[in-house]
Amino acid sequence: MARRRTVPRNRAEPAPALKRLWAPWRLAYVQDAAAHRTVQCLFCIGRLGPAARRERLVLSADRHVVVMLNRYPYNNGHLMIAPRRHVASPELLTLGEGAAVAAMIAAAVARLRRAYRPDGFNLGANLGRAAGAGIAAHMHWHLVPRWEGDTNFMPVAAGTRVLSELLDQTFARLAPLFKTAR
Ligand SMILES: [Zn+2]
Repeated sequence: MARRRTVPRNRAEPAPALKRLWAPWRLAYVQDAAAHRTVQCLFCIGRLGPAARRERLVLSADRHVVVMLNRYPYNNGHLMIAPRRHVASPELLTLGEGAAVAAMIAAAVARLRRAYRPDGFNLGANLGRAAGAGIAAHMHWHLVPRWEGDTNFMPVAAGTRVLSELLDQTFARLAPLFKTAR
């Protein structure tokens, strides 16, 4: 006689590799990006004054690199790190630009560790629209702090924003750590 399954097939846990943060508010971002694709580039901040940069959630900007909060974050402290120059792919960066971006990524990891004590990070870039880039023309790295259990908790709160910290609070918390901003 076949042994009875102790867990029904449709209630089995998904394989770990298939687990994702479930962030329904990001639909607004996808729609927003589609609607405003041709208006202006989020990462090209060259002529913006301090107020406009704050509105855009820019934490720091130097000669080669800009760092900003993601307005539609996957998690608290979700940063985006981009070269100042409007290029779509890393092989288009100069060695100096690439080194500056790499140094800023390392600094940002250290600053997020200090501010949030995360258990880990997701760090990566989507190159091209086919790969999921919302703004494909200006490449950028996403840096997302992660905590043990955040994938387990978030799907439970279906349809609600579950981030525990508002964007303004996140900005106030991180801006002092990026105070080379100009
Ligand atoms: Zn740009």
